[in-house]
Amino acid sequence: MAVPEPSRILLRFKPAHLSWPHQAAFATRYPLYYPSMSVIKNIGAIAQGMTITLKEMFQPTIVENYPDGPGPLKGAKFQERFRGMHVLQRDESGLEKCVACFLCAAACPSNCIYIEAAENTAEARVSGAERYARVYNIDYNRCIFCGYCVEACPTDAITHGHGFELASFNASNLIYRKEQMLAPAPAHMGANQVFAQSETDAGVTGD
Ligand code: SF4
Ligand code: SF4
Repeated sequence: MAVPEPSRILLRFKPAHLSWPHQAAFATRYPLYYPSMSVIKNIGAIAQGMTITLKEMFQPTIVENYPDGPGPLKGAKFQERFRGMHVLQRDESGLEKCVACFLCAAACPSNCIYIEAAENTAEARVSGAERYARVYNIDYNRCIFCGYCVEACPTDAITHGHGFELASFNASNLIYRKEQMLAPAPAHMGANQVFAQSETDAGVTGD
């Protein structure tokens, strides 16, 4: 016996006999056989979208009074995950975590990280590994704050901070050097004047 073509089966089928969710599924699968369903679906989607818009219209307006607001951020608010200016981290002994492996530069899609590596010596140790970044620049004219450099770093040396006031009239000011991004040295290394003084008084040094 000849098997009927699928289109012939569908032409004999009456989707109106189906319940609503099955009708919707049928209309999605066979829009040519049931074109009115897609119109109804579109109207439903628009109505759903407009409901959200109407609900938002009656919510209180939130104003961030930046830069005249209170606090160190001058009224600006952002989420913990906000990706701002990078911070080059130090380990618990105050040594730089960056080991100049260049993985962040390789991962950067904007090609905006410039690194020059140098060797640590017994007399001058900057990082905990063999090498450290003698020069570490990020060109914020090009950075898109994608976070790929942070993901690529094997030592968690580079992270996104919350610094966001980067705008400048002079593009050359947007090339940040290592010294501008480096995390402050721990208190026992002298970054905290009060702490350092009390340690000095007590005869404790950071060496
Ligand atoms: S955040 Fe993205 S664009 Fe910016 S330096 Fe890192 S990898 Fe490059
Ligand atoms: S920041 Fe991380 S990935 Fe980039 S050179 Fe330093 S250690 Fe390597």
